[in-house]
This record gives sequence, structure tokens and C-alpha cells, in this order.
Amino acid sequence: SNDAPTSGPRPVRAPVGTALTCDNWQTEAAYRMLQNNLDPDVAEAPDQLVVYGGTGKAARDWPSFDALLRTLTTLKADETMLVQSGRPVGVMQTHEWAPRVLLANSNLVGDWATWPEFRRLEQLGLMMYGQMTAGSWIYIGTQGILQGTYETFAAVAEKRFGGTLAGTLTLTAGCGGMGGAQPLAVTMNGGACLIIDVDPVRLRRRVETRYLDVVAADLDEAVKLAVDARTAKKALSVGVVGNAAVLVPKLLRMGVPIDIVTDQTSAHDPLAYLPDGIDLPDAPDYAARKPEEFTDRSRQAMAKHVEAMVGFMDAGAEVFDYGNSIRGEAKLGGYDRAFDFPGFVPAYIRPLFCEGKGPFRWAALSGDPSDIHKTDKAILDLFPENESLARWIKLAGERVAFQGLPARICWLGYGERDKAGERFNEMVADGTLKAPLVIGRDHLDCGSVASPYRETESMLDGSDAIADWPLLNAMVNVASGASWVSIHHGGGVGMGRSIHAGQVTVADGTALAAQKIQRVLTNDPGMGVIRHVDAGYERAEQVAAETGVRVPMREG
Ligand code: NAD
Repeated sequence: SNDAPTSGPRPVRAPVGTALTCDNWQTEAAYRMLQNNLDPDVAEAPDQLVVYGGTGKAARDWPSFDALLRTLTTLKADETMLVQSGRPVGVMQTHEWAPRVLLANSNLVGDWATWPEFRRLEQLGLMMYGQMTAGSWIYIGTQGILQGTYETFAAVAEKRFGGTLAGTLTLTAGCGGMGGAQPLAVTMNGGACLIIDVDPVRLRRRVETRYLDVVAADLDEAVKLAVDARTAKKALSVGVVGNAAVLVPKLLRMGVPIDIVTDQTSAHDPLAYLPDGIDLPDAPDYAARKPEEFTDRSRQAMAKHVEAMVGFMDAGAEVFDYGNSIRGEAKLGGYDRAFDFPGFVPAYIRPLFCEGKGPFRWAALSGDPSDIHKTDKAILDLFPENESLARWIKLAGERVAFQGLPARICWLGYGERDKAGERFNEMVADGTLKAPLVIGRDHLDCGSVASPYRETESMLDGSDAIADWPLLNAMVNVASGASWVSIHHGGGVGMGRSIHAGQVTVADGTALAAQKIQRVLTNDPGMGVIRHVDAGYERAEQVAAETGVRVPMREG
């Protein structure tokens, strides 16, 4: 239409209920999830279209956002909209099994895949940073990372502390969209947590959403509260305002009894990590005016930060990189021992990937929390033997405040996701749920990402950087009937360091949706099994053998 609305920042929220704005539920779902990503309760900086993870955006600019919505409202059940870095660039006739939206975000040719080149193109208005679920419209707020973080800390507890974090103190930094999950994940495992952030607003926001218990007045108070909780074996999370490049070394010098150290500042983007000696309000302007100088200072700050983390490791603490590239940046900042501690995937998550397990999630398009409570119950009924899953669903029901459309996440594996999806579709069909659900996942999954500093770090066969797998994953999901499919570059680890794919499939209660769900939710985690069989993981071979996943080179 010609009456384009005035394009610019404004509060955005997903429509709820059963009245359709679009032609059908498949496109309506994309229409709602795009807006949900920018809901002020969901997004970190919605006026800039930034959802989470430094500068991860849902749309390239406001005119693109308007065009995306407008196009979705006109899209037919046999048409597909193409999105290039957050801008709709075409509509093509396809067929009803094809995805309604295909997205490619932030992709650059190898030798050009650097931050300066990306920023040059971004400034020209030609690209945007898609992160993982920001540009692919399946971010569900901090809960999305909470379950993965909960699993990770549970694995740390299992490995080092007899199955519980009670009586331990975890030190971390970065209380943003993803990092904000850390304090709650630690307390859910019974531990004490001290979390540093330079931005008091971020810490307060996590207190409001009940992810963080308290913000201390200063470092001394923070240390006292945290250490007392550790001694009393009490679960408590304490926030403190400060720069991690200053406070982590300081806490090491103070000899505070810290058992576990990690970090989730936005280190993957040196312009989003605040170097010491710069005041927070001055940072955006400084970074924009002198990006190279800012990058150098940022990397030097990360070198100090990581050096202190290695100091804690030398003193006996369990230390790991939480997927933000801080080791790589610290190395560029001149610190040689940056890679002395491992990434969290090889340390704790890979065994789950071998079983096709990963961050399965769904959101209720009705907007009604009772729909999610009913799906929670369905999950408990479907997998009664899985105790840690039951513990998670129970704790999530009690502790997680919904942000935007009510949603739930739990890690499910090969042979489980399709069962859950088919049950959900039945619940839509028989009216148990008030409206359809979207079923998706993070790009951080078992068979959907190549990321040598994170998901594919230290693969058994050295295949860390092979990016054929995420591309195959995207193609498999397109071929299997997903509702929208995305291929991104950069994600949580930054430019030049990862390629990853995502899918979202809508359970609208139809028989066609049931068939699509069965295929997508079998084949998508199946990619994780074959990826890990190919790399030589025994557990993946067992899973393939037990479940009948076909691996041609193991046949005949
Ligand atoms: P975010 O931008 O929402 O939050 C980052 C936080 O770090 C902000 O609150 C900021 O104030 C704080 N910060 C920046 N510099 C600091 C410093 N020097 N000292 C103290 N605090 C500082 O980002 P996010 O979504 O929370 O993601 C955090 C990081 O984790 C990113 O690098 C992201 O790519 C990565 N990530 C990891 C995973 C995973 O699975 N492990 C998943 C997603 C994202």
C-alpha cells in the first residue's frame, strides 16, 4: 500500500488472541514473533531494533520493519518472503510445504568476514547483525538461555561439587539479555553467585524479573553477602556495579574464596565490551568516533579480565568460557594464556549434542499463560522418567516470569522433540490450547552450527571450522516443511567465527502441520546425531544405532 506509516521507533507488541491479521497462521506466527522480539519486555533496546547480544537486531531499520509486517499481511499460503539482513527483498511463489519466510542475516564471504567490513556495510544500510534468534524471530527473553545455563551449571556441579552448587561461590560478569540468566541458574542449582555489570540498569532489570536476588551497594557489601551465603550453603545471587576488567583482578588479589568463574559480557563485539577507564555514558560516542582505538582498549581490558580468570584457575577454581569469545579477544589483546581454560561446550554440553539434545522452545500465540501451563503438563506426561526435565519444568513454572508472549524452553533430544511437537499440535486441534504454538529453537543446537570457539570447539576429528553442516541443516529444514528457516553468520562469537542455522515450525492444529512437525522435529535434531557420528563420537553412534538414524558410511 502507499499509505506507509511514519517509520520510526515506537513501542511494538505482538497481537494476541485468535483473530488473524494475516492470511493464515503460518504467516501470522511470523508476524507476531517478529513483533514479540521487539516487545519492550523482551528486547534489550527496542528503539534501535536491538533484541539481545550486543547489537543483535530483528529488522534492519524501521522502514524494513514496516515492510516486513506489511508483506507478511499479504503473503499467501503458497508464497515465500525472502529476507536479507533484516530487510524483505522479494516474494516468490513456492508451495504450501515450503517455508513462508527464508532469512539470511549477516553473511559475508570468508576473507571479508571482519568487523570493520561488516560495520562499513552496516553504516551504508546494507546489513544488520542478526545474532542467533534476534534476526530469526524466535527470541523469548532471558528464559531462552536460562535452561541451557541451568544445565551447564548442573553439569559443573556434577563434575566438581558432588551434584550441587550448595556451598560454592560463582563469579561472573555481564547481566544482559543472555548473561542475566546466570544468577538464577546458579541459585536454582543451590549456589551463591556474585555478578558484575557496568550498567546498574541491567542489574536492576534482572531483580525486577526475579533473575537476580539483590544489588549490593558496593564491592565490600557484595563480597560479604556472597561469602556469607557460601558459608551458610545458601542459594543467593548478588549483583555489583563495576567494570569486570577491574573487579575480577581485584577479587583475585583480595583472595575471595571463589569456586567457579565464567563471564558473559558482550565480549564477542569489542565495541560492546566497556574498557576500563571509560565511563558508561561516554562509550557509544567514543566507540562510534574511534572504533579502532576503542577496540584496542577493549581487547587490552579483556586481556586483564582473562588473566585474572586464569589466576583463579591456577588457584583451583573451575573456570570456563561461556561462549562470548572472551578468550579470543584477550589473546588479540596480548594475553598468551587466554586459551588455558576450556569453552563450556566441550567441557559440559557435547555429550548432550551426541544425543541430538538441544534448546527446544515454544511460544503461545494466544498470549495466554494457561496455554504454556498446559504444555508444561503435557511435557511431564510425555517424559515421566526424565527427572532433571521434571525439576526444570517445575522450577521454571515457579521462578520464570514470562516476557512478551508466554513461552517455554526445555532441552529435548532426538526422538523426543517430534513427540512433543505432535502432542502440541493435537492440543491445538482439539481446542485444549486457545491458539496455535510456534515451535523453534536457538541456533546453538546440536547439528546447526559451526563455531570453533563454542559449539564445535575441539571436535574429536578436528572438524571445528567446517561450515557445511549448518548449511545442510538449513536445507534439511526447508525440505522438511519448517515455517521459517534462517542462516546467520557471527552470532554470539562474532564476525568470522561462526555460521549457524535456525528453524521455526508452527503447530496450527492442521493435519498438514502434523506432518511437517513430524519431519522437521525428527530431521533437525537428527542432524546433530549424524554430525557427531561423522566426527567419531561413540555416544552418537550408539544413539544412531538405537534409533535407526541412517548414516551411509556406517552401512553396507
Ligand atoms: P548484552 O549486550 O545484552 O549484555 C552484555 C552485558 O555486559 C551488558 O549488561 C553490559 O553492561 C555488560 N558489560 C559490558 N562490558 C562490561 C565490562 N567491562 N564489565 C562488566 N560488564 C560489562 O549481551 P547478552 O545477550 O547478555 O550476551 C552476552 C554475551 O554472551 C555475548 O557475547 C553473547 O554473544 C554471548 N552469548 C552466549 C551464549 C551461550 O550460549 N553461552 C548465548 C548467547 C549469547
